[in-house]
Amino acid sequence: MESKTCVVTGSSTGIGRGIAERFAENGWEVAVNYRSSRAAAEETVDRVEAAGGSGVAVQADVTMTDEVERMRDEVHDAFGAVDVLVNNAGITQDVRFTEMSHEEWDTVLDVHLDGAFHCTRTFYDDLAAAEEGRLVNISSLIGKGGNFGQANYATAKAGIFGFTRTLALELAPEGTTANCVAPGFIGTDMVEGLPEHVKDTLREDTPLGRLGTVEEIAEVVDFLASDRSSFITGEVIDANGGKDL
Ligand code: NAP
Repeated sequence: MESKTCVVTGSSTGIGRGIAERFAENGWEVAVNYRSSRAAAEETVDRVEAAGGSGVAVQADVTMTDEVERMRDEVHDAFGAVDVLVNNAGITQDVRFTEMSHEEWDTVLDVHLDGAFHCTRTFYDDLAAAEEGRLVNISSLIGKGGNFGQANYATAKAGIFGFTRTLALELAPEGTTANCVAPGFIGTDMVEGLPEHVKDTLREDTPLGRLGTVEEIAEVVDFLASDRSSFITGEVIDANGGKDL
């Protein structure tokens, strides 16, 4: 398999770390982006190296254009042009809509939507010029179905669907694909921090009867990032244990 250079935003922990490790199993070069969790990002880099890839930790708040541009320069210095961008960085700030402040609305939309905008804009020329360029965006089941207390998050994740389809059209003439993965509930910090009774309900409401794993999502992302998905673009791939059946 040909080597690829990849940027995975928000890969200090959780799903992003799993994606970075999966890419490393292919022998790929992985830029491990983080906002503030430097030690965790360095641990991801260690895991990438142990799995057979090459890693570098690159700090940038994806909501800040200048930080993302600096990150691009650091990635170019370390590995050269990028073939694969995974827009994965994300946060939640859950609160019932009537209690939601404008700041809670903006903060969540900024990370997911402005973050995807800045990173895709900044790496667009690399992706377009790549032999087999790949843009993979991480959305969520919640972007389709909504969720109590997550108006900000659901709106952001629904926006990622339209963003993906549009980028798929605009990148297609360059032979670059853009796809999206919509995970259900996955056992990362984002979900493990919920009260036990809420997690029990999530498991019960999922036909497969459990939370998904980081590895299960990383496998789908790896497929979309690889040459094996060469005729798939503009798609949303659900990986949710049947939750929206
Ligand atoms: P997580 O464990 O909380 O990890 C979030 C990652 O995003 C961290 O690496 C964090 O880095 C980074 N991040 C947050 N804000 C950032 C910013 N402004 N700039 C750069 N990096 C930033 O979350 P996760 O569960 O793995 O979620 C990863 C993605 O999957 C998110 O987009 C999430 O919405 C989506 N998703 C998750 C689930 C689930 O059940 N867990 C389900 C569906 C979709 P720092 O620690 O350095 O801030």
